[in-house]
Amino acid sequence: MYKAKAYSVSSATSPFASSTIARREPTEHDVQIEILFCGICHSDLHQARNEWKEVMPTVYPCVPGHEIVGRVTKVGSAVTTIKPGDLAGVGCLVDSDATCPECQAGLEQFCRNGTLTYNSPDKHSGGVTYGGYSDSIVVNERFVLSIPANLNLAGAAPLLCAGITTYSPMRHWGVTKGKKVGIVGLGGLGHMGVKFAHALGAHTVAFTTSPSKKEDALRLGADEVVLSRNADEMAKHAGSFDFILDAVAAQHDINAYIQMLRRDGNITMVGAPDKPLPVAVFGLILGRRSFSGSPIGGIAETQEMLNFCGQHNITSDVEIIPIQKINEAYERMVRSDVKYRFSIDMASLKAE
Ligand code: NAP
Ligand code: ZN
Repeated sequence: MYKAKAYSVSSATSPFASSTIARREPTEHDVQIEILFCGICHSDLHQARNEWKEVMPTVYPCVPGHEIVGRVTKVGSAVTTIKPGDLAGVGCLVDSDATCPECQAGLEQFCRNGTLTYNSPDKHSGGVTYGGYSDSIVVNERFVLSIPANLNLAGAAPLLCAGITTYSPMRHWGVTKGKKVGIVGLGGLGHMGVKFAHALGAHTVAFTTSPSKKEDALRLGADEVVLSRNADEMAKHAGSFDFILDAVAAQHDINAYIQMLRRDGNITMVGAPDKPLPVAVFGLILGRRSFSGSPIGGIAETQEMLNFCGQHNITSDVEIIPIQKINEAYERMVRSDVKYRFSIDMASLKAE
């Protein structure tokens, strides 16, 4: 084991503070990465504050962070695909059993024995895993992604969660040219959703509660922007969407969006509010519409998404912060005041 610098929370109500954690030395199939940038996902906040206690209670101390890019510093003896000095990415998963039908299908996100990047039982240490708010991480080679060389690293980090989480359901539900697609909530996930829907050729409509984001949404690739608190603007789109991606982190009226789907349309939740959302079933029945959810994406699809971003020069719009500003960043994220993802410059951790 060796000591790594990190920022952690010690309870659901305590702020982040500088700390030291133990990481394993790379075993034969491991890759050790010096972390350069780590995005701040709203899931980090849900988890740090134990807002998902009924589904995945938080073990403290907790070191979140699953939007990681960095440089390889060491590899295990059996690792052949990546070498020290290479750029590398790590998302929400760091291990899985590799043998179950889900893993065999390249859908590691559904493996029942999967290991999440943080707050997951760590079979090596016996404790829990620690995420990317840290100067380094050690990960099984199967979960190390390659980052296209043309992408800006601070903006590439959020692709590892916000990117794949929005890309995967759009591919699954056939978002393409000729389809009308809605993206609800212009946060870290939502703004990536707008970029992908546009790049995939769909007629893209962004829904936001923030009038200040209207201009930006058009710049990000939306063909139309709707202020979701304006009933008249909302009514114009009734029964017209093939697909809607909902990336809202808090309680909101999902039925307003179900009504906007055409026959056989689908709305997929990627946003994960802590409380149930009431669904009026007649909205589903009368249009044979469907309401579903989607978690991140598999490793092969994550690499496909990164390559797609390389080809289309897509990165996240980020505000780069030193790690010392993390508590302030969390407060701003709760107020939907980030355009559109915080990316932590991990060089700032060297000062601790
Ligand atoms: P974020 O950056 O905070 O964005 C959330 C956006 O939702 C806000 O920017 C805001 O957009 C909108 N919003 C917030 N409160 C709202 C309210 N009360 N009513 C309506 N809209 C509201 O969060 P994020 O990092 O994108 O994550 C979004 C959600 O996805 C979180 O719950 C997160 O845990 C979840 N998530 C799920 C997965 C998965 O695998 N399914 C992966 C990552 C994250 P506007 O200002 O435009 O209204
Ligand atoms: Zn995330």
